Amino acid sequence: MPSKYDAIIIGGGHNGLVNAAYLARAGKKVLVLERRHVVGGAAVTEEVFPGFRFSVCSYVVSLLRPEIIRDLDLPRHGLEILPLDGTFTPMPSGDYLWRVNDHAKTRREIARHSRLDAEAYEEYGKAMAEMARFVKPILSMTPPDPTRLALDGLKKLLFLGRRFQTLPYQDKYNQVQLMTMSAADFLDQWFETDVLKATMSASGIIGTFLGVRSPGTAYVLLHHYIGEIDGAFRSWGFARGGTGAISNAIAEAAREAGAEVRTQSPIARILVKSGKARGVVLENGDEISAEVVSSSVDPHLTFLKMIEPRILPEDFLEEVRRYKFRGSSGKVNLALDALPDFKCLPGPGAHLRGAISISPSVDYMERAYDEAKYGDFSSRPYIDMVIPTLTDPSVAPPGKHILSCFVQYAPYRLREGTWDEKRDAFGDTVVDTVAEYAPNLKNIIIHRQVVTPLDLEREWGLTEGNIFQGELSLEQLFFLRPVPGWAEYRTPIKNLYMCGSATHPGGGIMGAPGRLAALEILKDWKGGKH
Ligand SMILES: Cc1cc2nc3c(=O)[nH]c(=O)nc-3n(C[C@H](O)[C@H](O)[C@H](O)COP(=O)(O)OP(=O)(O)OC[C@H]3O[C@@H](n4cnc5c(N)ncnc54)[C@H](O)[C@@H]3O)c2cc1C
Repeated sequence: MPSKYDAIIIGGGHNGLVNAAYLARAGKKVLVLERRHVVGGAAVTEEVFPGFRFSVCSYVVSLLRPEIIRDLDLPRHGLEILPLDGTFTPMPSGDYLWRVNDHAKTRREIARHSRLDAEAYEEYGKAMAEMARFVKPILSMTPPDPTRLALDGLKKLLFLGRRFQTLPYQDKYNQVQLMTMSAADFLDQWFETDVLKATMSASGIIGTFLGVRSPGTAYVLLHHYIGEIDGAFRSWGFARGGTGAISNAIAEAAREAGAEVRTQSPIARILVKSGKARGVVLENGDEISAEVVSSSVDPHLTFLKMIEPRILPEDFLEEVRRYKFRGSSGKVNLALDALPDFKCLPGPGAHLRGAISISPSVDYMERAYDEAKYGDFSSRPYIDMVIPTLTDPSVAPPGKHILSCFVQYAPYRLREGTWDEKRDAFGDTVVDTVAEYAPNLKNIIIHRQVVTPLDLEREWGLTEGNIFQGELSLEQLFFLRPVPGWAEYRTPIKNLYMCGSATHPGGGIMGAPGRLAALEILKDWKGGKH
């Protein structure tokens, strides 16, 4: 074990690991220090009950940048993405909406609800693909700050401005709408079928404390639209072995390049001497030195917990304190003896292989938010479910299944009581809600794991339980993420960088923050700035 490293990475979530892998590949001596017993952060697989390996937090992948998969040769390190086909939305009326990747089938299905919408769906798909293509390069770029006139930033702004100019008129208009409108209003312009709008608008609220009718949610819709798998836009998939397999593959790539990855190594403080980061102090008191420290945890943990606040500029601290988390999601993971049987489409079938969405109407979605606004979890929540065992049976014992339920809203701050007191009631609400559509559910549950926003904070270090290390709201995106003036992965402390989801381009299993931060760190190294 060397006594001094070139770089220490705080946190072994997938971004910390990507950061480590790129730095190690550039020949740096790198140490990743992870607080938990396992790497991966929110992208983790854990055997919570014997034989059942849950993707405890994140459960589907799409946003992982193709350049990272290529550069780190992740398939060779065990990454295999299995496609997830379609979204099935059961309705209380006994009908359903089932969209799949096959355009013709989806068109016929939507036409059952509205012929106009079937036409519009094609157009919408094309327009969103254009929008996604416009936004995509931004994911692979350190955001230029328009308030500073550095040459490099100006070039990027010019590049983006030119791209915007080349968009057809309607797409320019759509782009502005996406940045300003609510998901429900935006979709209202395209469609008339309530259940279609509701289930599509759901992507606009994931990880935010906003409702489908809140302005700004249309952008989050796009954020979830820009993913691709093997070059196919908008496709989502499972990692074989659960989400943790992604983090494990990245960790393997990092190790192969020479990085050391240590678990059960919680960091208490960042060592700062003469305005420069010099290493870290572990909770057990051990000091480890490094030339560079790169933090993949959020700005609250980094600047308010791990650094003596008085050494930071007051205006910067003020921005950090203002940074919004406001967790609003929970997770209920179920081990099942059999498959859920939906009243509206009984029996097993391909509809169970994709996402199953409890989002029957726009009003339902907005009511779920109304309750959360005033500090209650939704009595009838939006639930996004998957049954990974149908695609990857290796994660459960033979014949058994896993039902993963992502739930909104579960507000971090409750009006009454604590999350520890409410955990079971929350779990019951989720099961009751799903059972209204699949009545056999209660009889087939073998085990239940309920993850509250407080658990996300306590166990995964996600402040206020925000799944993206901070809301993906417009004022916290691009050159404003995490705080204005500090979006280029650097911080007011020399040699201290940020590389997690709290930096551009934000949350999701993307790896982009980890990679971009590594490129900036290496640039500074080359420029002799360390
Ligand atoms: C419930 C839930 C569902 C989600 N669903 C999806 C999904 O389906 N698809 C998707 O793309 N995204 C999803 N996300 C978002 C995605 O998982 C995250 O944005 C992403 O995994 C964050 O990665 P990260 O490396 O930036 O940070 P994190 O995963 O937060 O990693 C930070 C790491 O730092 C460690 N740490 C904290 N404090 C310390 C300390 N003091 N010392 C050392 N280490 C420390 C933590 O233990 C953690 O491992 C979901 C997130 C959650 C919580």
